[in-house]
Amino acid sequence: MDLLKAKILDEGIVIDTDVLKVDSFLNHQIDPNLMFAIGKEFAKIFSDKKITKVLTIESSGIAPAIFVAKELRVPMVYAKKTTSVNLDEETYEARVHSFTKKIDYIIRVSKKFISNSDSILIIDDFLANGQAIIGLSEIVDMAGAKLVGAGIVIEKGFQDGGALIREMGIRVESLAIIDSMSENHITFKKD
Ligand code: 5GP
Repeated sequence: MDLLKAKILDEGIVIDTDVLKVDSFLNHQIDPNLMFAIGKEFAKIFSDKKITKVLTIESSGIAPAIFVAKELRVPMVYAKKTTSVNLDEETYEARVHSFTKKIDYIIRVSKKFISNSDSILIIDDFLANGQAIIGLSEIVDMAGAKLVGAGIVIEKGFQDGGALIREMGIRVESLAIIDSMSENHITFKKD
């Protein structure tokens, strides 16, 4: 997706060779025009599939996921990383290792919001080692729902997640796949 790639090249900051900071349009300040375009793009890519819900993880997945859901005219559900009185007691849970924070955490989705009649599209901001997508797909399985695929805004193709998830038989569609990156150079996989 050209608009996204241009934003990454203009505004992305590479940290420690394997983390891309995109705080100016995706992870802190959010560009609504870009999110709108992302929503349209994923809706087009997955237009051959019947999708009943979009699933993501708080907090960075929420912005792209809500635009995809709006375009598909279905609800968006996000997995929570913390418990609170607002969360139902009946939840599906999975353990996820955080690539950026280097810790394990539990993600939870209320049993009220996904069921075995759902066809689910997972959306996330980044794909690195694939742990977030695996955790979400476990929750989809627990609910007995169908997983249609995973839509990723930025895949870091030089890390293992993409191959791992695809080998599991999950359809992965990424809007920008980074082949390599260093402090002053980012290259993308050719479309
Ligand atoms: P994975 O579970 O695939 O290892 O990592 C994906 C999750 O980690 C994403 O949900 C994202 O929040 C975070 N993440 C992974 N790599 C990056 C990165 O390079 N930049 C940013 N901003 N977040 C990342």
